[in-house]
Amino acid sequence: MEIAPAGQWFRKTVVDSAVTRFEEPFVHPYFAANIWFVRGADADLLVDAGMGLRPLTPALDLTPGKPVLALATHIHLDHVGALCEFENRLGPRESAAAFATMPDTLTYAHEFRHLDDAVSALPSPGWTPDDYQLTPAPLTRILTEGDVIDLGDRSFTVLELPGHSPDGIGLLDEKSGLFFGGDAIYDAQLLDDMPNSDRAVYRQTMERLKTLPISIGHGGHGPSFDARRMSEIIEAYLWRAA
Ligand SMILES: [Zn+2]
Repeated sequence: MEIAPAGQWFRKTVVDSAVTRFEEPFVHPYFAANIWFVRGADADLLVDAGMGLRPLTPALDLTPGKPVLALATHIHLDHVGALCEFENRLGPRESAAAFATMPDTLTYAHEFRHLDDAVSALPSPGWTPDDYQLTPAPLTRILTEGDVIDLGDRSFTVLELPGHSPDGIGLLDEKSGLFFGGDAIYDAQLLDDMPNSDRAVYRQTMERLKTLPISIGHGGHGPSFDARRMSEIIEAYLWRAA
């Protein structure tokens, strides 16, 4: 298998003046999550950190001296891989302690290790999936429902959105309606059948999401969605789960 071309491990899409999306196109589609970068006035925010197969920081075009708040919406492998590269590491209360050890039982890293087609190009010469290990990234700030993440010109309220995983959180900018859903809600196949998923809890999360005043939603996987599309995704899930 070929090595991924230099500088192309991450695919970058500028969404608007504040938000940029990064993806890992050579990772198996099941584990190819969205990485969101939000430029703020006083601090920048990273929402999720990919697989950690290549260093993420060089792809981000960071401003020297400006703080970056690197946040994980939950501890699944495809959201926490590069968290260790950042000084400020934020994550959910429910799984907080586990960020210091990254156990397979919560990250599901073993599922990637055992894939035949884990990647379509190598992250580095001679790499094999058996080598895959998440680097521990102890949290420096533990997030709970209602916490506020302030970037200077905008702030996000933390929402606990369990179901897909017990520790899922989302972020809502209540002024603009900008919303990050993690894996609680996105516009692709939603997953509620992993060992730590809870369908009854997930349904409650969906009922809560119905009432959320979003303008645009950026999820852990798939394309972004507006309020109307979000209700369609919610209704489809609730219908399927009924
Ligand atoms: Zn997940």
